[in-house]
Amino acid sequence: MTNRQLFLNHVGQTSDAPLCLNIVKAKGSKMWDANGKEYIDLIAGISVCNIGHRHPKVIEAIKQQADKYLHIMVYGELVENPQVEYATLLTQHLPATLNSVFYTASGSEATEGAMKLAKRFTNRSQIISFKNSYHGSTQGALSVMGSEYWQQAFRPLLPDVLQLRYNNFDDLKNITERTACVIAETIQAEAGILKPEHGWLHSLRQRCFCTGTLLVLDEIQCGFGRNGTLWAFEQFNVVPDILLLGKAIGGGMPLGAFVADKKIMDSFTHNPVLGHINTFGGHPLSCAAGLAAFKVLTEEKLFTKVFEKEKLFRSLLQHSAIKNISSAGLMMAIEFDSFETNKKIIDTLIENGVFTDWFLFCAHAFRICPPLNISDEEIHIACNQILNVLNEQFARQF
Ligand code: PMP
Repeated sequence: MTNRQLFLNHVGQTSDAPLCLNIVKAKGSKMWDANGKEYIDLIAGISVCNIGHRHPKVIEAIKQQADKYLHIMVYGELVENPQVEYATLLTQHLPATLNSVFYTASGSEATEGAMKLAKRFTNRSQIISFKNSYHGSTQGALSVMGSEYWQQAFRPLLPDVLQLRYNNFDDLKNITERTACVIAETIQAEAGILKPEHGWLHSLRQRCFCTGTLLVLDEIQCGFGRNGTLWAFEQFNVVPDILLLGKAIGGGMPLGAFVADKKIMDSFTHNPVLGHINTFGGHPLSCAAGLAAFKVLTEEKLFTKVFEKEKLFRSLLQHSAIKNISSAGLMMAIEFDSFETNKKIIDTLIENGVFTDWFLFCAHAFRICPPLNISDEEIHIACNQILNVLNEQFARQF
């Protein structure tokens, strides 16, 4: 049997049409399959490899930590240096009220932990989220996902969850003294890159202050420089009470976190003790890798080039078939007239060595979300390929 058949037979599947490329190596913004074919990676593991694949400093940090210890004890009991060093550095790069980092093994678990923390701290039960939001696939995170399509088969989910319209000022009045927390993506990713309208996040922040509700901002996909500043919320002049981190936080290794003020975070230590626990959160290898990646990101200030690269993509991607480009830094949605067009373009791009994919809630757009240090030359090559594919497809009366 081929590897592809073994993958389909023995690895749990998530759809009946997986991309099925057999990637054997990745470096920087490139990947290679088993036949030696090269791909420019415009996805970066969906915003995971922000400093590119297998950065030498990340690989070195993993090796050094592997020589010391791997897993030694459940999260939160022992002083593990990679956790301590990374939490200290992260909080030095965050506002003063975001000073305590609770590690998880994934983004979904960060969402779960934050919702529990908000309920415990406020002693309230209602959680509010927004249409077309994505915060993870576990049952709590699914409960606040902004799409009935993905939720319906798994109901009943969490009770006392309310969904409002993102960017709608009127809806904010539904946040009340009953609301434990409001959870929002600073920039909605799976909606096809939707930015908060001028003043909306600020109004949301104010409403949360007025009602004693905690504001949870999900920067699992849009954080770590992806939007041109280290944190997306910096661009909107708000500070959340709890910040959700994931994806790029581990430098390519599995890691997630929620960050809050110690006064809030300490609620987990009593009534009941061990209010939130896990085994693998803050795994030493993941923290060592994440720390090394974060140092590269911040010392080389990779995010300062993001707006220029966004502009370059936008200037090169001029074609009558492209109906719109929605972008927030190096998080871009290239929109076509239909799902069918989009699917054909994505498939052909992959055949032509440009790796891209879908959005959950925006079927007519493909994603561009490359490593932040993708070179200008690689951007030119990728965009030329995209234009070639569009010319070819549309010449055929597509
Ligand atoms: N929030 C956002 C905004 C995400 O993009 C994702 C992952 N796509 C998650 C939460 C969940 O993270 P994970 O897949 O690591 O559980």
